[in-house]
Amino acid sequence: MQVNILFPINAESFTYSVPEELEPEIKTGARVLAPFKRGKKVGIIQSIEQTRGHKTVVSSQKTDADLNNGLRKKIILKPVEAVLDDEPFIPENLLQLIQWVGQYYMSTSGLALKNAVPSAFFTGKKAGKSRIVYDEEVKKAKALDLTDEQSNAISAINSVDKGVFLVHGVTGSGKTEIYIRAIKALPPDREAIVLVPEIAITAQMIDRFSANFGESVVFFHSGLSIGERVTQWRKMRNGEVKVVIGVRSAVFAPFNNLGLIVIDEEQEASYKQFDGLRYNARDTALARAQLEGIKVILGSATPSLEAYYHAKSGKIRYLELTQRIEQRPLPRVDIIDMTKEEKQSFSLSNKLLDALKENLGSNYQSLIMLNRRGYSPFFMCTDCGHTYKCPACSITLIYHKDTNTLNCHYCGSYLNPQDLCPNCKGTRIKYLGTGTQRAEEEIRQLMPGMAFKRMDKDTTQKKLSHYRIIKQMEEKKIDVLLGTQMVAKGHDFPDVTLSAVISADIALNMPDFRSAERALQLFTQLAGRAGRGEVPGRAYIQTYEPEHYVFDYVRNHDYKGFYKKEIELRKELSYPPFSRLLRIIFSFKTRDTAGKIVKVISNRIRKTAPPLPAMSKGGIPGGIEVLGPAPAPIEKIRNLWRWHIILKGKNAKALRQAAVFILEKIKDMKEIKIDIDVDPINML
Ligand code: ADP
Ligand code: ZN
Repeated sequence: MQVNILFPINAESFTYSVPEELEPEIKTGARVLAPFKRGKKVGIIQSIEQTRGHKTVVSSQKTDADLNNGLRKKIILKPVEAVLDDEPFIPENLLQLIQWVGQYYMSTSGLALKNAVPSAFFTGKKAGKSRIVYDEEVKKAKALDLTDEQSNAISAINSVDKGVFLVHGVTGSGKTEIYIRAIKALPPDREAIVLVPEIAITAQMIDRFSANFGESVVFFHSGLSIGERVTQWRKMRNGEVKVVIGVRSAVFAPFNNLGLIVIDEEQEASYKQFDGLRYNARDTALARAQLEGIKVILGSATPSLEAYYHAKSGKIRYLELTQRIEQRPLPRVDIIDMTKEEKQSFSLSNKLLDALKENLGSNYQSLIMLNRRGYSPFFMCTDCGHTYKCPACSITLIYHKDTNTLNCHYCGSYLNPQDLCPNCKGTRIKYLGTGTQRAEEEIRQLMPGMAFKRMDKDTTQKKLSHYRIIKQMEEKKIDVLLGTQMVAKGHDFPDVTLSAVISADIALNMPDFRSAERALQLFTQLAGRAGRGEVPGRAYIQTYEPEHYVFDYVRNHDYKGFYKKEIELRKELSYPPFSRLLRIIFSFKTRDTAGKIVKVISNRIRKTAPPLPAMSKGGIPGGIEVLGPAPAPIEKIRNLWRWHIILKGKNAKALRQAAVFILEKIKDMKEIKIDIDVDPINML
């Protein structure tokens, strides 16, 4: 007997022999200890081969890579040393998903395994007991009378046991209640995964799900300790819980008998992992549902253009909630033209400031978003115009006042600012632009006596710090909450009647074909935090570009109008959903090598790229457009010079073939690091 073992490393499986005495214990999905290089490693049995005479009988699904592996290593197979689990540790369905992810994202099953399973299970480290305490007293769920729209959606979902639904419901229309009911309606032995984009949003979901599911719900996110992750994983695998709520990696929950996956705010970019294994949890969830023949709910107030397009075409089922609960009105949205507005402070218009003061006076809460952390994004010499750039990245450094440092938000390195300009020795150095720290300073000065909190990456490093801020908001211990986009999403605070964006321009000016879509989603989300209780809400959006077309639709809560306009643009340029993209990123140690090698790459590819839409022989498949190589918008990160190629085409398989073809053409090249991003979300 021999087995193919997958380790949590960036590789496909390795083949080992099995000593006779271990044979009875060998099961697909069980962990084993096996010699690896000069040491030992814990891995997973991916498949088993019964060897009889010369024949190899394959007893589980295998990839070509496995077979090659098996053939090549036939001669000297090392033996497995020990089997660590009596029961398969990873269920068969999850192993299949892991394999799918490795292939689809042009990565490896090993790297997918590493992302799917808590590392503690492979290190042999003792995990220890854990105690996860969120809320002391779990409140009982209130029994709600469903609205007609909610009832219709739920009966549609409950009437089938497979298929994909898009629940498109305005902010505050009660989507969470639909998720809860759909899970409750599952057969008793079926489990559910609920994916949320960020921990910051999870806090209130945790309470609502705890109230409804008590002990049978667990939470899974990166803020957990090793011990906690292990405990939660075990509970799921042993069928002790019915629901998991988590971010990205919860899509790999080791349930045996899954019935439903919910993806809340499916359009969120944070479902995509930006390095290493570049998978999208939403798309992985859709693949998992397909593999296991179960249903999926995509929920959103502002669906991705892709999801809405597929809903319109009938590929997925569309359920709409047009009304807020209790027919509450959506907030009035004011777009504030900052080119005309009077200001008493650097970042707040008088209009917004007055509104904030008024709100404070009447004991309501306010939410302010500024999607940039730090104090000032431009620390500039006004004599010569010099700004500080990161020595390792082609990025302007952001001044952080609390630490008095200039920080790079990409690589984490920092400089200490000088009193004299390092370029002209001038002394007139200015802080231009606003980050959350500066906005905090200004708001505190302008409105002394209010209870203020800032929520951004810098204030939420500690475990459960998000949760505490959300709790304080709920308990009305905070009057004004200011933060990056993490304040905009998901929260349900009935006493927030005012929400505001300090600088809409940050979102509008991203160099990405999705920037308008993202901006609309973000502003709609933020506006949607206001007026969820009995008192109607208002939203103020400050911008230097008030005539931008996005605002016409944000102002009128007109997602469909926006879709109509935007989908035409996408069609003209043949961007998703009318095509698929695949991005190949090349990184080099020096600018010179980059220039030289890219020229060669370009020549080799150009020679073989077919004229569209013809098929080419042994070259890049027809219908695939090759854009680049071109310098990436951020040319240098962590001392690596970056170029990219973007492949565009209708057929996912042809796209991957094209990528393989290109990689094949350049595999002899040295001094180059290559990353592949299938369905990229970030083009920087
Ligand atoms: P969404 O996710 O669509 O923004 P939520 O699910 O957060 O909306 O619901 C908004 C609020 O309305 C929550 O406080 C929720 O408890 C409440 N709610 C949901 N459904 C009902 C209902 N049928 N009757 C009364 N309140 C409801
Ligand atoms: Zn840097």
